[in-house]
Amino acid sequence: MSDVEQTLSIIKPDAYERNLSDKIKAIFLKNNLSILNSKKLHISKDEAAEFYKVHQSKPFYDQLCNYLSSGPIEVMILEGENAILKNREIMGATDPKKAKDGTIRKLYGISIDKNSVHGSDSAENAKIEISFFFNK
Ligand code: ADP
Ligand code: MG
Repeated sequence: MSDVEQTLSIIKPDAYERNLSDKIKAIFLKNNLSILNSKKLHISKDEAAEFYKVHQSKPFYDQLCNYLSSGPIEVMILEGENAILKNREIMGATDPKKAKDGTIRKLYGISIDKNSVHGSDSAENAKIEISFFFNK
C-alpha cells in the first residue's frame, strides 16, 4: 500500500551559509522525495520560539531560538512514500557525531546545535509545521 506523506524540512543557517542547499536537495531527490514548495526566509526570534515551542522547557531552548533566527534558512515541503520517517532517516541522528554514514547530518552537521537540517518527527507535527510556514 502506498502511503504518500508530506513533511517539513528546514535547511538551517549553518548549512544555508555554506551554500549546501543544492547538495541537500539532491539527497532528497535521490531518495524519491520531491520538493513541492520551497522558500528562503530569515525568521525573527519570536517566530523561532513559536516554531520550537515544544522544546520550551529544555535547557537549550533559548540558544536554539537564537540560532534558528541567526541567518537565512530555506523551508521546504517534501512529499513521497513514508516521507516523514524517510526524511528522518536521511537526516540522521540529532548529534552529527552519532549520525550514520551517508546521512545529511553526518556529511554536513557541525555540532548538536548546528546540525544543518530540521525534519518533522510525526504526522501531527508535519501538519502543524507545514502550515506554520506555508498556509499563513
Ligand atoms: P531533531 O532536530 O533531531 O528532531 P530535537 O527535536 O530533539 O532534535 O531538538 C531540536 C533541535 O534542538 C536539534 O535539531 C538541535 O538543533 C537542538 N538541540 C537538541 N538537543 C540539543 C542539545 N543537547 N544542545 C543544544 N542543542 C540541542
Ligand atoms: Mg525534533
